[in-house]
Amino acid sequence: MNKTILITGGAGFIGSHVVRLFVNNYPDYKIVNLDKLTYAGNLNNLKDIEDQPNYEFVKGDIVDSEFIQQLFEERQFDGVIHLAAESHVDRSISNPTEFVFTNVIGTVNLLNAAKHIWKDNFEGKRFYHISTDEVYGSLGEEGMFTEKTAYDPHSPYSASKASSDHFVRAYNDTFGVPAVISNCSNNYGSFQFPEKLIPLFIHNIKNNKPLPVYGKGENIRDWLWVVDHARAIDVIYHKGVTGETYNIGGFNEWTNIDLIRVMCRKMDEKLGRPEGESEKLITYVKDRAGHDLRYAIDATKIKNELGWEPSLQFEEGIELTIDWYLENTAWLENVTSGDYQKYYEQQYEIR
Ligand code: NAD
Repeated sequence: MNKTILITGGAGFIGSHVVRLFVNNYPDYKIVNLDKLTYAGNLNNLKDIEDQPNYEFVKGDIVDSEFIQQLFEERQFDGVIHLAAESHVDRSISNPTEFVFTNVIGTVNLLNAAKHIWKDNFEGKRFYHISTDEVYGSLGEEGMFTEKTAYDPHSPYSASKASSDHFVRAYNDTFGVPAVISNCSNNYGSFQFPEKLIPLFIHNIKNNKPLPVYGKGENIRDWLWVVDHARAIDVIYHKGVTGETYNIGGFNEWTNIDLIRVMCRKMDEKLGRPEGESEKLITYVKDRAGHDLRYAIDATKIKNELGWEPSLQFEEGIELTIDWYLENTAWLENVTSGDYQKYYEQQYEIR
């Protein structure tokens, strides 16, 4: 093995796709997946690669600075791809402090450990922070976020990610830690915890449960297939320029309500229901506090400079995704039992 790479949060939704891609595509790299296994972490996401010789799982918390320091000293990582985070906006509204610990302090702990083991020899080293377009705030009807858009986070989640992005840049500028950052739009695909819109609604439609739509469903998001995000992470990790930021998106904007209607129509077909049946489940609920109206990503820089673009059209991606959740019922049932049920019942106030 010629390099050892730490991937944090590899048991989560996006992280598991990144771990899979790196383990399969780079047999010469040793991939160490560090994850605390919170409610969002699930080792069943990685069953297909867990026995590969270049893969290792380590259970641990990035907030524990001593543990992180020791792990870096023992393993002498060449690179870090940092995805571990508290990632759900609604949970950040009910418990903001947890987001400061994991997303801010956890990131600073990783930066300190990398700075410590790499000392001033940064040749061949890389610290890559995976971030979100939500740091840029909200758009009106026009315009797109570019890498130069000023940060304007509104939720505790986006504030914590903005803060961690700033620390990563500060460690690059102040100490020379060779960092790159990418800010990506909403991801969809297999292995996503069903508190997020697409898996939640597939699950609810299938089980004839109400589809809780915030406000009037007019919020607009850009959606990217998670495998394309993992491909972009691969490209940026290997070809991105130190100190730079790259926006990643699907050029694929949808209002929530239009997206939900598409899903309802597809689910009617797949479940053999009369047309319009699933749409009857749409239930408008009290809007999320501070709900950003529109996010849109201008992903021109990564396309022009690094040659990445999405491989899949949305129609195809959503089809694959719905099929995956319908086929992997055991995975879905497993993660929607227990504590998740309590959380779900408290979360949505039906109007
Ligand atoms: P996720 O919630 O599915 O997974 C997060 C993972 O981090 C889980 O496996 C969890 O166990 C782990 N984790 C949480 N706290 C930890 C801690 N203290 N120590 C170690 N591990 C811990 O999240 P996701 O949707 O896969 O997002 C991954 C990253 O990508 C996050 O940084 C998120 O901000 C960013 N991102 C997500 C999206 C999206 O649409 N989901 C879009 C852009 C950026």
